[in-house]
Amino acid sequence: MSRIIGIDLGTTNSLAATVDSGIPLVIADASGRRLTPSVVHVPDGEGSILAGLPAAHLRVTQPEQTVYSIKRFMGRRGVDVPDAERRLMYRVEGTGAGPVAVRIGDRAWAPEEISACILRKLKADAEASFNEPVTRAVITVPAYFNDAQRNATKKAGELAGLTVERILNEPTAAALAYGLDRLQDRARVAVYDLGGGTFDLSILELNEGVFQVLATSGNTCLGGDDIDRSVSEFLLERIQESGGPRITIPERRGEYPLDQHALAMLARVREAAEQAKIALSTMEATEIVLPFLAPGFSFQYRLTRTELETMARAVVQRTRPHCLRALADARLQPHELDQVILVGGQTRMPLVRAFVADLFGCADFEETRGQLRLGTEHHRPAGPQLNTSQNPDEAVALGAAIQAEILSGGLRNVLLLDVTPLSLGLETFGGLMNVLIPRNSTIPIKAGEKFTTAMDYQREMLIHVLQGERERAADNWSLGKFTIDFEPAPRGVARVGVQFEIDADGILHVLARDTLTGVEKVVEIKSAVNVDDAAVQQMVDESVTHAFEDLAARRWIEARLKSMEILAAARKSLTECGTQVIPEVREKIEAAMVQVEQALVEDPNTKIGDLAQLQTATGALDHASLPVAELLLDRAMEALLRQRGIVLTPVTE
Ligand code: AMP
Repeated sequence: MSRIIGIDLGTTNSLAATVDSGIPLVIADASGRRLTPSVVHVPDGEGSILAGLPAAHLRVTQPEQTVYSIKRFMGRRGVDVPDAERRLMYRVEGTGAGPVAVRIGDRAWAPEEISACILRKLKADAEASFNEPVTRAVITVPAYFNDAQRNATKKAGELAGLTVERILNEPTAAALAYGLDRLQDRARVAVYDLGGGTFDLSILELNEGVFQVLATSGNTCLGGDDIDRSVSEFLLERIQESGGPRITIPERRGEYPLDQHALAMLARVREAAEQAKIALSTMEATEIVLPFLAPGFSFQYRLTRTELETMARAVVQRTRPHCLRALADARLQPHELDQVILVGGQTRMPLVRAFVADLFGCADFEETRGQLRLGTEHHRPAGPQLNTSQNPDEAVALGAAIQAEILSGGLRNVLLLDVTPLSLGLETFGGLMNVLIPRNSTIPIKAGEKFTTAMDYQREMLIHVLQGERERAADNWSLGKFTIDFEPAPRGVARVGVQFEIDADGILHVLARDTLTGVEKVVEIKSAVNVDDAAVQQMVDESVTHAFEDLAARRWIEARLKSMEILAAARKSLTECGTQVIPEVREKIEAAMVQVEQALVEDPNTKIGDLAQLQTATGALDHASLPVAELLLDRAMEALLRQRGIVLTPVTE
């Protein structure tokens, strides 16, 4: 079996990792670099496509051919991408329901094609490192990615020559890398992920070894890049003040033309700004030196951490409402969390760590920083632990590698990482929900059941796939409908086997087969697992609120179906041999039938009738029909015996 690598396909940087002799490790490229900038350069004319650092170097000087942040466009339609997100230095196309594409020269590139270039580079680095081909990977995606975005990621992997064994949620991967699967059951963890271009806050709960995403909130255009931009603007002002040229940063492609000198200068200032920001995570001040920035002009500036923090504070503050939103969605107070973990390179900044510690009330962290807020501490419930034990920019890739190792059977205590958020089932006769896969089942999973026809000589059966926790089909969500044809047969004779299978990527495959002829149909439903958390919560809450009326509805519908069956049988027997019974029996049956028909009447609002009355009337009809039923049985018996050549003669003494 070939090795499976873990890949963090990030907005700013991507990484590949593996587990070697039980230890998760990031795979370095030939120059020893562990982070690959998620940047792709498509040259004019013949040259070859560049991915990673060489492409990143061209980002400012050849902006129209150098694509960054492509992750933002994966699996999205034109209508999903607002104008603000198109403020880029390269050209983004796509309107309405059409896919988004990147236009470079006369070729439109699908986002997955661009991502595939990054994945190809990671694959090649891994192959060089192991000296063997690599064809399988686990790739991570943000928890909020929908099916289209997940499928686009999978497609990118395939285009790069990788079989994507699993698409894994980034916060789950990070939690695995932090070893949080060893926490006690029902432990809750907040994953604060601030990267170069995106921010996410996810709240996870550990349930019997399974991480469940309770809530997630974030911004796909918020991250370290915004801090770099503020620092760059600050430096450009200082450059102008000290006699250098005046340059402003364009917001989008073609906003105003910059000549090659200005572009090159901007590239240097931006790089210096980011480097200074990184240096100030460990130092109190740093010297920025840009010799010969313009003809006859060199620039030097001593930037302090205080100055940086003044500029960065506004960006960091923008993560606050998302944290509060996710906590509210998960219905949790900060002190109910067990840990807060940090993911994304930008969380190395001390200001970010202090902000997170303060927001979530992480008391330990404050103590270690010697900034215990005396006076308030005694009254506050003990806060979660701020866990900074892992490299924040490597945690996701390492977690993906751990998952890959689990999939290849290399690690024991297999963790099943995803669960079905809601029950999945079929609509059955009478409009009820028949659950095949209950909520919170670990995936992958397979489940099946056999169904029969409700009417004589039915030629097809409608398979209506439902998701939800309610008893009545109509109260659940409809995921799809299709019909399966079969040989006509009397009611109850035809058999249709239905199987639900959810694969490791959360895609539901529904198979329906006529068990007599073997005719079958398979339908793929993609939205079965990745459901908006708020919608799941609402569905679960509603099922609790309506539990009693739902139960009453199920009992009523089941009783009604049974009564209608008995009513139909009584009607049929009266037609066939009503004349052969004494008039009192016949009248008794007819009266009982009227009683059942009356009891079947439903309240138009609740669609429920009087259950006790229906059960009594049905029991009475069943009893009244006994003589006719016996007569019919005798007849059937006689016919059968006759068919077999046996003739019964009356016994004479
Ligand atoms: P990621 O998207 O996780 O790769 O994070 C990239 C972002 O983290 C970029 O904005 C980097 O400038 C920033 N970053 C990386 N290392 C540090 C550091 N030591 N201090 C502050 N920011 C950093």
